[in-house]
Amino acid sequence: MRLIIDAHEDIAWNILTFGRDPTRSVAETRALEAETQIPQQQGDTLLGYPDYVRGGVAVVFATLHVTPLRRKLHPWESVTYATQAEAYRLARAQADAYRRLVENHAGKFHLMTDRAAIREVLETWAGDAPAAPRVGLVMTIEGADCVQEPEELHEWFAAGVRIVGPAWSGTRYCGGTREPGPLTPDGRRLLHVMDDLALMLDLSHMAEEAYYEVLDRFSGTIIASHSNARTLLDGSPVPDRHLSDAMIRRLVERDGVIGVVPYNRFLKGGWLPENGRAVVTLEHVICQIDHICQLAGDAQHTGLGSDFDGGFGLNQLPTGLDSIADLRFIGDSLARSGYQLADVDAILSGNWLRMLRRSLPES
Ligand SMILES: [Zn+2]
Repeated sequence: MRLIIDAHEDIAWNILTFGRDPTRSVAETRALEAETQIPQQQGDTLLGYPDYVRGGVAVVFATLHVTPLRRKLHPWESVTYATQAEAYRLARAQADAYRRLVENHAGKFHLMTDRAAIREVLETWAGDAPAAPRVGLVMTIEGADCVQEPEELHEWFAAGVRIVGPAWSGTRYCGGTREPGPLTPDGRRLLHVMDDLALMLDLSHMAEEAYYEVLDRFSGTIIASHSNARTLLDGSPVPDRHLSDAMIRRLVERDGVIGVVPYNRFLKGGWLPENGRAVVTLEHVICQIDHICQLAGDAQHTGLGSDFDGGFGLNQLPTGLDSIADLRFIGDSLARSGYQLADVDAILSGNWLRMLRRSLPES
C-alpha cells in the first residue's frame, strides 16, 4: 500500500481540549459529538486510527501545542497560558497524553524516537492489507514557550520530543505569525542546544526576519512542517503565515522539506466557510505542491502537513477530502497531473522519511 507521512497534527491538543479519542474512527467520533458544541467550535473531526489505516497514514508528526492567552479566540479554548510555567505544565500534559496513548494502545500507535522505530513502524505496514499496522508518532513542539530555558530541551528530548518549532505566534525565542520579530538572544541559545541534541527545526509560523537567521545559523535538519506558498494566496488575511518564493528557495538550498496544508483558507486567499467547500478543490492543493516543486526544480522538497483538526474540521476542507484517509487522493491527483510515481511517493512520504532518517538518533 502507498504510505503517507503527515507532518502536522495537533492530536494531544484535541485529546485535552475536546476529550477526543484518536483510537476511534472518524465516523464514530462524529456520531458521538453530533449533539455537542464541538462541531460548531472546531468542526467535524478528520482523524482516527481506522482512518489512518484506510489511508495508509503510517507516520504523523504529533504536536505539543499550547496557545498564549493573548491569542485566545474562543471561551472554550482551555489549553492557554499566561506564563512559561503554565505553558510547560500544559505541554507536559500533552506529552503524557501521547505516552498513555502508545502505552494503552501499543498495537495502534508507536512513539518514534529513533531510526530503529522507523523500521519497526514501517514493517507493520508491509503488504497490501497489513494486519496490525501501527501509526508512528514523532513528537514535535509547536511554539517553544513551554521550554522554560534552552537547556531544558534535554528534558524534552528525554520525554520523546524530536522536532521543535520555536514560533507559533511570537515567543520568547523569536517572532511568529502576526507578531513579527527577529531571533532573540535566548532564541540563539535555543538553536545551540537544538544543534547539540540534533533536534529537527521547524520553521513554520516563524517570522521572516528570524526565518533567514535560522537558515544561516542552524546546522541541523530544517523543515517547514505546515506552510503554503504566499504568492498563490492573494487576499490572505495572514500573509506572514505563508512562505514567500525567496523563503522557499532558501529552505530548498538547505535541503529542507515543506509540508503543504490542504486547508481552504491556506489554498484560496480570502476564502471563508460561507463561501462553501465547492470553490476549493484538490486542484488548489496540487497547485501549491507544484509551485514548490517548480521553484525547487524537483519533487524532493515538498510533502504534506495537514494540520487536520488544528482549529478546523470538515467544513473547511477542499472538495474531494473527507478525512485523513483521503490524503491519498492528493497522490492520485498528482499522478493524473503527470507526476512520476517515484515523485508522488517522495511527496507523500519519501521526503519526510529522508528528514527523519537524517535527524533521528540511531537508537
Ligand atoms: Zn500551526
